[in-house]
Amino acid sequence: MQVKNVNIRASDLPHSTNLRLTAHCRLCGEGLKHSFVDLGMSPLCESFLLPEQLDSMEPYFPLHVLVCDRCLLVQLKEYVSPDNIFSEYAYFSSFSTSWVAHAKAYCEMITKRLRLGPESLVVELACNDGYLLQHFLPLGVPVLGIEPAANVAKSAIEKGIPTQVDFFGVRVAEELVASGKRADLIVGNNVLAHVPDLNDFVGGMVRLLKPEGVITLEFPHLERLIAENQFDTIYHEHFSYFSFVTIEHMAALHGLKLIDVEEIPTHGGSLRIYLAHQASSHVPAQSVADLLDREERLGYRDIAAYTTFAEQVKRTKRKLLSFLIAAKDEGKTICGYGAPGKGNTLLNYCGIGPDFLEFTVDRNPYKHGRFTPGMHIPICPVEAIDTFKPDYVLILPWNLKTEIVQQMRHIRDWGGKFIVPIPEVTVLDPEESL
Ligand SMILES: [Zn+2]
Repeated sequence: MQVKNVNIRASDLPHSTNLRLTAHCRLCGEGLKHSFVDLGMSPLCESFLLPEQLDSMEPYFPLHVLVCDRCLLVQLKEYVSPDNIFSEYAYFSSFSTSWVAHAKAYCEMITKRLRLGPESLVVELACNDGYLLQHFLPLGVPVLGIEPAANVAKSAIEKGIPTQVDFFGVRVAEELVASGKRADLIVGNNVLAHVPDLNDFVGGMVRLLKPEGVITLEFPHLERLIAENQFDTIYHEHFSYFSFVTIEHMAALHGLKLIDVEEIPTHGGSLRIYLAHQASSHVPAQSVADLLDREERLGYRDIAAYTTFAEQVKRTKRKLLSFLIAAKDEGKTICGYGAPGKGNTLLNYCGIGPDFLEFTVDRNPYKHGRFTPGMHIPICPVEAIDTFKPDYVLILPWNLKTEIVQQMRHIRDWGGKFIVPIPEVTVLDPEESL
């Protein structure tokens, strides 16, 4: 029998990537046709498992990031309801001393810059446990926190911070305005990426802000994610990933203007943006035009700059796996350091389980005796590294690598070395890296 020669192009195949592209942009409403990166199926990155849960089914959700060709917002569909993620949140900001110090410096700077005083009102959206607002109290500036997770909000209230347990949006803003509250300053740190209904959130800020008020928002910068290959910062809690050009689009859509921007080192490289009403008297700083120019030169106003990222991610996976396979073939022992959310994206996407990493360690006692979601790697106290003396320690929170190498440099006593997976697999000899 003769086989008919049929020319099938890859794009004709019923590939899941093509079938899933039916969502609409959460900022401008355009149909989403372009993939940014598809990291496959992944469990929720903060759902660490108890031993008795290992035999049960585990929910997995797609981790497929799309990019809008109109406003260029890089985004994840709302695969998981925010109620499931944020109503009981395990992350207390005050556990991180460097983050609290960052917040204190900000409060002192912004109080001077905006001349805030006893007549002002500062509102923080997703105020967590009051790690930031607490620093306004000694400065005599009235504050209000809005926080969806009741357990962390309770901790803010205990610090003496008036806190409302709610998801912020137009409804909450209108209730506040009706009760006579309007803000001189609205703060949102690491919340914008977590908001599924972006327009409702920004619309709420516009309503709550006084005519001459200022909004400051901090969020990881997409430019750093792309340039440094930080694909593991993608997880279900992060719905949107922002370039500055997309932020400009978002501001214009809501009658806001960008008046300043700063690049800050938190979370692998973030932006702190300053927004005000378009009709206000605030004059944009030169930094705004400079960053827009830079992103334009990088091609961020064109879809092509975004669609090449996926190949970069696949290459990183192959390199990391090649390294780990070669090390295991040589009989080396490897463990992890840290069990951060980003580690779980990396481990699940690359398929790195206990066959590669015997265990990982973490400083947070909550995680001890538990297992990482999906890959089921046991999590031990940090001291397990001294007992086990592995040949390699894979640093999962790579943004803290300098600190970790300092703390764990004694692994050189038995010839141990560090592996850093991002931006691409690198071996650090503790002798040479200090
Ligand atoms: Zn869009």
